Amino acid sequence: MDFSLSEKEQKLFDRAKAFTREHITPKALELEKRNEFPKEVVQKAFEAGLMNLHIPTEAGGPGLTLLDETLVSEATGYGCAGIATSIMCNNLAFAPLVIGATTEQLKTYVEPLINGKEPRFGAFCLTERKAGSDAGAVATHAERDGDEYILNGMKCWITNAPQASLFTVFASTQPELKTKGLSVFMVPKSKGVKIGHIENKMGQKNSVQAEVIFEDARIPKDCLVGKEGEGFKIAMKTLDKTRAGIAAIATGVAQRALDESAKFANIRHQFGQAIGNFQGIGFMLADMGCRVAASRQLTRYAAWMADRDIRNSKDSAFAKWFAADSAMQNATDAVQIMGGYGYASEYPTEKLMRDAKLLQIYEGTNQVQRFVASGVILRESANLDTGFHVKYDGKDAPVM
Ligand SMILES: Cc1cc2nc3c(=O)[nH]c(=O)nc-3n(C[C@H](O)[C@H](O)[C@H](O)COP(=O)(O)OP(=O)(O)OC[C@H]3O[C@@H](n4cnc5c(N)ncnc54)[C@H](O)[C@@H]3O)c2cc1C
Repeated sequence: MDFSLSEKEQKLFDRAKAFTREHITPKALELEKRNEFPKEVVQKAFEAGLMNLHIPTEAGGPGLTLLDETLVSEATGYGCAGIATSIMCNNLAFAPLVIGATTEQLKTYVEPLINGKEPRFGAFCLTERKAGSDAGAVATHAERDGDEYILNGMKCWITNAPQASLFTVFASTQPELKTKGLSVFMVPKSKGVKIGHIENKMGQKNSVQAEVIFEDARIPKDCLVGKEGEGFKIAMKTLDKTRAGIAAIATGVAQRALDESAKFANIRHQFGQAIGNFQGIGFMLADMGCRVAASRQLTRYAAWMADRDIRNSKDSAFAKWFAADSAMQNATDAVQIMGGYGYASEYPTEKLMRDAKLLQIYEGTNQVQRFVASGVILRESANLDTGFHVKYDGKDAPVM
């Protein structure tokens, strides 16, 4: 077993870390005050080749792996989870297309967006006001009309929506079939597609979310991805992959919280010595370090599995919730270790704490991750022989 990164992976990780150090970390606090899309930083990330990593080479992309993506997400998440979300959102938006679209469709709809001089954006449109965790409740509807589909409905909380040129939309083609009636479409920005309310948030203010409204939006029939009714399957396969990306951003946040507070614990003196010498603080730092290491390994393992086409629903759920919970815990502990300074907006820790909270919510809440993982565990254990058999009167005990 080899835990090291290949030379190519290490170079990419180092490049993303150097980018973060130069373009993200020094500006994140200031940019957050603007509460808007960090256009200049995203432009630089695009020029540095840190976007759209997973688009296959046949469709004009770099064709990198999910593990590569997690390296960039961890590095940029270390600097600012909001900016990392803005940079990496195309991964989420285009993943259903990479999974379900033909090379021809990718060349027509995605290639022009990734190879220009400026970054262009996709947006992943699943959530609705009445359909959050329950994707089967999606009410946005697509109806076939000759060579076109007509879309009507409203999505909310859609990241990068105001910037997007292409919307990956989950819409019902047969509402009575619930999840089995969901289909996925590529919807270019057109007159039937409008941006509604911009969402206000407690953290990750360096990313933008909005409502997307479809009013008789007409799209050619070749904008259907896969077949009608395959939307839910494609959505689940997408999230199996992209959850590792969120876990990676969370690992970056957890590492940053550790680094900032450990640095502080070395230099802050109380009772005549550095506070890091107090066991109460030292043990907190040790727990934080352990959470970072476990998050990183779970994340890379989930990505490694996906890159080998090994079913990873359970492992990507483990990675997402463990890393997100760890980021939240580490950020909270970092604020505690830094005392009043930790709570001050001039220091990065209060932002880390606000940013981390979202990691437990988007791309499937951490409760939903446990729901996904427990389903797999129960299925896997249904026929499990542990070697322990209770006998009554010489016979196997009845099932309770
Ligand atoms: C900043 C931000 C960015 C986002 N970006 C996007 C995006 O780009 N595209 C997109 O489509 N969506 C996006 N979302 C939506 C996000 O994925 C949803 O918010 C999330 O899936 C939860 O849905 P909900 O908010 O409706 O909560 P609900 O589903 O209403 O959940 C409310 C609470 O109930 C719990 N719960 C629900 N079902 C269960 C269950 N079966 N078992 C146990 N507990 C349960 C949840 O865990 C949660 O605690 C974004 C959200 C935010 C906040």
